[in-house]
Amino acid sequence: MPDLNKRTVEIGSARAEPGSVARGAMRVTENPAGGVLDIPVIVINGVNAGPCLWIDGSIHGDEPEGPFVCQKIAREIAPAALSGTLVLVPAMNPPAYEAGQRGNPLDTFSYDMNRIYPGRADGYLTERVAWAHAQWMRKFADYEISIHSGGAHSYLAETIFMNEDPASDELARAMGRGWDLVLSALSPKGNPMATMLEAGKTGITVELGGRSATSPEAMRRVVETLTEAMRNVMRHYGMIAGTPQYAEKRWRGVQEGLLAPTSGLFVPAPGVEFAKPMKKGAAIASIVDIWGDTRAELVAPADGRIFGLRALPNVMTGEWCCFFGKTTGLRV
Ligand SMILES: [Zn+2]
Repeated sequence: MPDLNKRTVEIGSARAEPGSVARGAMRVTENPAGGVLDIPVIVINGVNAGPCLWIDGSIHGDEPEGPFVCQKIAREIAPAALSGTLVLVPAMNPPAYEAGQRGNPLDTFSYDMNRIYPGRADGYLTERVAWAHAQWMRKFADYEISIHSGGAHSYLAETIFMNEDPASDELARAMGRGWDLVLSALSPKGNPMATMLEAGKTGITVELGGRSATSPEAMRRVVETLTEAMRNVMRHYGMIAGTPQYAEKRWRGVQEGLLAPTSGLFVPAPGVEFAKPMKKGAAIASIVDIWGDTRAELVAPADGRIFGLRALPNVMTGEWCCFFGKTTGLRV
């Protein structure tokens, strides 16, 4: 018999006794017209003892995949069948989420919440949102998964960013089948993962979805794929019943973002596919001008694979075109 969970978890106004679910919010501040700025949170506190897993969504407000996954998990996971505690934060940056934009458009000083962690108690507004979230996360979370996608500009296939240490690698591996591109975070600084690492805990950033996968069927596939990965993580750490599955091979590497060298229309090369191994110099796309004449060619900067492409063909010089994973070998 597993040990019983004896810990009541209280995060902001969400107070969940063992074996119960609570909805509530982490207070940030008051709004000028009298409302409040709250970060919604769901706490599912298991009957049995176990780790605390945080699942965070929409740190970028144009990425609705995280909220969908949190809602689906909340419908599925009953505290009676859970060992440990699940904390779901569907929309970490509420003003950005409400605006449907990457950051809060009213906060131009600390716009991108994924670059300013752990924020500041007395900082710009988004720094305060980050600070409110980071305080509670540091206090309770053992593992944290931040769900991202290509947002308004791109589609990203299954990709994990992690710090290179054994505990992060274990969490990345626990994502299961299909999650075989595991890139090193170039600088694990300024995001929730970094805050977890600094606190001696473990967090990863995962990417799937974006604006070219928001048709009903495509969105269902993205949300189910992410949700199954969350279930697999919970199986891996013994939080729910079932046998975890793992990717047979996992690739290591680093990201390289390919930006548009010129403006025009972005035209992917024939046969270009996500996750297909490519050699350095292989064609990715061309950019054609308003007359249809080719003005620039994008090619693979190294051996590796494409994990993201822009969603809107119209492109301006300097905008994202392609997220390329430079693979350097297999992870064991
Ligand atoms: Zn994002």
